[in-house]
Amino acid sequence: MDCTIEKNTKNCTCTYSSCSKRGKCCECIQYHKSRQELPGCLFPADIERTYDRSRAAFIKAYAK
Ligand code: SF4
Repeated sequence: MDCTIEKNTKNCTCTYSSCSKRGKCCECIQYHKSRQELPGCLFPADIERTYDRSRAAFIKAYAK
């Protein structure tokens, strides 16, 4: 299976553009999972910009 890093990077909605894991979704998920967080792309844009990737922020965002 080929890596799709170029396509992932192009479609990534995370605004932390200098992140070394940008486009490397496998590393991005592992990183945030290890911190009990979720990747930025799963958050609505206004919440993503706060860089709060916590589960609580995710639940709060979608509980509206
Ligand atoms: S969600 Fe986190 S790990 Fe993924 S690209 Fe954005 S800052 Fe990097």
